[in-house]
Amino acid sequence: MSPIGRRMFGAALALATGLTGWLTSSFLITAALGATWLPEAPSIPAAAILDGLVVAIDPGHGGYDPGVLLQGREGKVRECDLNLAICLSLRDILARAGAKVILTRTADVDLTRPGDETLYGSVARGDLCRRAQVAMAGGPDLFISVHCNAFPESQYRGSQCFYLEDGSPASRRLAEAIQGELARVTGETDRMANRRQGIFLLKEVPVPAATVELGFLSNPRDLELLTNPDYQKLCAMAIFFGICRFALPEPTPAG
Ligand SMILES: [Zn+2]
Repeated sequence: MSPIGRRMFGAALALATGLTGWLTSSFLITAALGATWLPEAPSIPAAAILDGLVVAIDPGHGGYDPGVLLQGREGKVRECDLNLAICLSLRDILARAGAKVILTRTADVDLTRPGDETLYGSVARGDLCRRAQVAMAGGPDLFISVHCNAFPESQYRGSQCFYLEDGSPASRRLAEAIQGELARVTGETDRMANRRQGIFLLKEVPVPAATVELGFLSNPRDLELLTNPDYQKLCAMAIFFGICRFALPEPTPAG
């Protein structure tokens, strides 16, 4: 088992222990352990703990816009590909847990159409508006946009979630829930969820919404991690647990 494989299994077990404190249903753990990519996963059927929840996920960039582009150890790295791989894993985990998932894209495409520049003011804005339209058409309970960061200086690292400065308290709660699980499950970030002004896409979706930046591709360790398929799945699992924390009621303390 690879170190990250061990970490994943360990994370699932730690969550199994940690979550029983606030979650009366142990099915959550079953859902996590039932994931086929976990090493030697027990064959427990996935439980429908998120039945009825509709989750909209936007894998950032794609098509004409690759996002962050750089040279990795094994070739070119494109942010759009990493975002998509993580979101597809997340979709599978959520679906196993009974949630309905809307993805704004499932391939290397953008959502622009001819004439968008006139209609929306710019091609980029058209792409984002259409992502919001696809997401909202499915009547989501929450929305997350998944990205990777980059910065001119290479020392900055770690995943971080953002919510709109003037957004709803629920958006903040969503961002904080996912941030907490990213810290706990991956052990690779000590950042806190933060508010940010003017995240255009989040303004376009009138439901609890957060942007998840899964690390800095400009940092060698984050780059190494985020290009590792096992780590991508670990991130997906962390986001899944964050969504569970946000969506499921906390149990009332016993006694
Ligand atoms: Zn991005």
